[in-house]
Amino acid sequence: MRLLVTGGAGYVGSVVAAQLLEAGHEVVVLDDESTGHADGVPAGADYVRGTIRDDAANVLAEGIDAVLHFAAKSLVGESVAKPGLYWSHNLGGTLALLEAMRRTGVGSIVFSSTAAVYGEPERVPVEETDPARPTSPYGASKLAVDETLHEYANLNGLAAVSLRYFNVAGAYRSAGDRWLSERHSPETHLIPNVLAIALAASGDPAVAASGKTELKIFGDDYPTPDGTCVRDYIHVADLARAHLLALGACTPGEHRVYNLGNGTGFSNREVLTVCREVTGLDIPARTAPRRDGDPAVLVASSAHIHQDLGWKAELDLRSMVADAWSAVCAAAG
Ligand code: UDP
Repeated sequence: MRLLVTGGAGYVGSVVAAQLLEAGHEVVVLDDESTGHADGVPAGADYVRGTIRDDAANVLAEGIDAVLHFAAKSLVGESVAKPGLYWSHNLGGTLALLEAMRRTGVGSIVFSSTAAVYGEPERVPVEETDPARPTSPYGASKLAVDETLHEYANLNGLAAVSLRYFNVAGAYRSAGDRWLSERHSPETHLIPNVLAIALAASGDPAVAASGKTELKIFGDDYPTPDGTCVRDYIHVADLARAHLLALGACTPGEHRVYNLGNGTGFSNREVLTVCREVTGLDIPARTAPRRDGDPAVLVASSAHIHQDLGWKAELDLRSMVADAWSAVCAAAG
């Protein structure tokens, strides 16, 4: 198949593009490089630098069988400060893409949704049918896209699958031995922050000078076994594999929604311990005040996708940290 991957210069999109190429598909990446990096586009993919709003229609008109849609704004904090930006990019941009798909007769889409649609869950593990009450414009804009896909499936016969990611981590070694990994700016996520501090602790002077020398653990008074928040981490390689299965499951007139997680939670302190073990470094850390909007526990039930598509996470937290650390060390030279 010839596939359009929007946001394919970003973290998850680039790994999915790499796996699609490895599976023998042709891939066109469309990315505006607002947060992605051109050097993240896997070798072998055609690359168009542009926006989904202005440029997707041209790419689709050249002959595309299905779309994997990652292009989005994805920082929770930024979305609270600039909600209009998130509605405009995430919902407005996707609407433009869906209309371009309708006009060009491209009938299948796999969408990168998020656990943030659930907000503060009433129970864990979270199932797809549980109430979706997002607590940020980011989560709300992604939920709005899920709902829009549902409408397009009902009204226009679109074949759509939304994949709701829990905490994605790790890195993927693509063809040519290149690591595709997280490179957010600013970096807010736990594992990359811990590993940046590990790099500083390993004596890298450039990193030590950047000031990231001690991990702040946001809150240790949550109702969890060790008082720190618990999250469900999923390796980006496992996550990407689910997209290929979802593509195969696209059915005209159906919108499916699947959670993607490991089904097991790890506390922030447990993550830090694994990072210390993998790197062999004594990564400094201290407790800091809670971060606004952090639920105590977020763990997914992925039973639904396991049942329907036979998917389940195979890689554990240790391999996520080990791969992320290899990518960090490779980037640092
Ligand atoms: N966290 C932390 N220190 C950091 C970054 C994150 O203590 O420097 C905590 C955060 O408060 C949350 C967990 O790590 O409890 C996971 O946060 P992350 O931003 O990685 O993912 P989220 O669950 O917010 O999507």
